[in-house]
Amino acid sequence: MLGQRQFNPNSERPDKMAIQRTFSIIKPDATKRNLTGAIVAKFEEAGLRIVASKRIQLTLAQAQQFYGVHKDRPFFGELCEFMVSEPIVVQVLEGEDAIAKNREVMGATNPADAAPGTIRKEFALSIGENSVHGSDAPETAAEEIAFFFSGLELVG
Ligand code: UDP
Ligand code: MG
Repeated sequence: MLGQRQFNPNSERPDKMAIQRTFSIIKPDATKRNLTGAIVAKFEEAGLRIVASKRIQLTLAQAQQFYGVHKDRPFFGELCEFMVSEPIVVQVLEGEDAIAKNREVMGATNPADAAPGTIRKEFALSIGENSVHGSDAPETAAEEIAFFFSGLELVG
């Protein structure tokens, strides 16, 4: 949390668009199919910088805590089982308007609705196995980054 509170890359650039950090997961369906590099390339092509990255495998308790906001949804059990089924890659992406930019690069939740060229259009298998997670707002980005990374692990 301390690292997050101290982060203020905009303090000396008031004329520039806001630099943000967002949290990303490359999900089990993508790591299993060896798509980590292809997905990272999409982030970098969009101008997002990888300022933290690690490959981990979640426990069921960790998956349930991370997706707690969805605990009453019908897909919650299946989602958590999927998220622990293979390793994932958790990352912090930094750039101008990073939260919205990442959501744009990801594409719609359901790959059938995703725009051409987006990660989910190109790689996702289904609405559940949809290759990537991305934070949806500044508050959730800060919480999700702190859930997986210490301040020392964020190297901008
Ligand atoms: N999900 C699902 N079925 C649904 C909606 C969502 O399996 O009908 C899964 C999917 O993996 C999605 C995740 O739950 O990415 C979180 O859902 P959310 O609505 O937050 O979508 P996202 O923010 O990932 O686009
Ligand atoms: Mg979401």
